[in-house]
Amino acid sequence: MAPHTQQNSTGFYGLGIAPKILATLDRLKFQTPTPIQHKAIPAAIAGTDIIGVAQTGTGKTLAFAIPMIQRLEQEKGRGLVLLPTRELALQVEEVFQKVGHASGMKTAVLIGGASMYHQVQSLKANPRIIIATPGRLIDHLEQRNVNLGEVKVLVLDEADRMLDMGFQPQIERVLRTIPKDRQTMLFSATMPREILGLATSYMKLPVHVEIAPSGTAAERVTQEVFIVKQDSKRKLLEKLLAQYHGTVLLFSRTRIGARKITRAIKDMGHRVSEIHSDKTLAQRREALEGFKSGKYRVLVATDIAARGIDVTGIELVLNYDLPDDTGNYVHRIGRTGRIGREGHAISFATPDQGNDVKGIESLIKTALPISEHPEIPTERFAKPQVVFRSNRFKRRLPHRRAF
Ligand code: ADP
Ligand code: MG
Repeated sequence: MAPHTQQNSTGFYGLGIAPKILATLDRLKFQTPTPIQHKAIPAAIAGTDIIGVAQTGTGKTLAFAIPMIQRLEQEKGRGLVLLPTRELALQVEEVFQKVGHASGMKTAVLIGGASMYHQVQSLKANPRIIIATPGRLIDHLEQRNVNLGEVKVLVLDEADRMLDMGFQPQIERVLRTIPKDRQTMLFSATMPREILGLATSYMKLPVHVEIAPSGTAAERVTQEVFIVKQDSKRKLLEKLLAQYHGTVLLFSRTRIGARKITRAIKDMGHRVSEIHSDKTLAQRREALEGFKSGKYRVLVATDIAARGIDVTGIELVLNYDLPDDTGNYVHRIGRTGRIGREGHAISFATPDQGNDVKGIESLIKTALPISEHPEIPTERFAKPQVVFRSNRFKRRLPHRRAF
């Protein structure tokens, strides 16, 4: 294709985006809005409350960043983005920096594990946009480092996670300090019904922008399941790491498991790092950066990396353990196949996890093909499988901060 012309760059016209931001999008080579951007941006620029549900890797960040920046250019006040992990906060800030560059809009990132002092300095510079994880934001509120009385636009990214039992009390606490007269936008690839009810209670007649039903997996990610005894997982992993050649993001249920698997993969002779909450922020950043740059071929993670992380070109997502939370399956495998690319997801299920697999299948409304490996003993799921009861039970378990 020829270098882009005016013709190519017209995709974002007609959505109500201001010329300055259009020019920036052009410069950043964003040419065609994704479906969620196409639908959400005009409504969000108009100030409407929005619940945006679209598959992983379809550009939800820009769908809220563009309108937030534009509205804050036009009126006073602040924008606040709340999200579940430090890594996601840093990644989202990068998007705001790029898109808001021309308007010189200052941002502050408030996340755990980083120096309070530097965050206080960044707050003193009077940022227009604050990107925060709830715990650290509350620390700053309690120390009166920040005043959220001027927040005009609020975004909950990974909104269903932000409103589940683990985070919801903190979100309540933060919301008490934010004016009711504000715009609220919620984005996720999953939005369970029970959370949706709660979410709308924080909003004013929200418009539901749904590109795909909640739980829809990324389009071009192929999936398969191996039924394997716990004891045989490591051997199967070794076979698969030899069979695939690209980057692998591997999910472990627990931090301890992650550590052990990392060591085993190292012993197998692969370049590997790990990311979970036993690691410092600096170690976590190094692991993620190293994974992005190719220093590490395999990144072993807990569900801390399940949501939001945007790394281009992950070939394989490997669920060494199934997630505790069914919804996280969709988020985990969504780390591959981003923005229309292809990807593959392999899950290991033990013979007693037939119900968990059924639960995932009912969420994604797709049957998962079962694969066998010639060198690993063939297993079957134990019967019987009481599907729905087991699912409901899972949802109601208090959130476990295993990662
Ligand atoms: P989501 O939040 O939906 O999972 P992200 O906002 O992280 O997705 O975006 C995924 C990737 O798609 C990012 O690398 C981003 O730069 C890219 N992207 C977003 N919008 C567009 C677009 N309109 N055209 C091309 N790439 C885009
Ligand atoms: Mg996202």
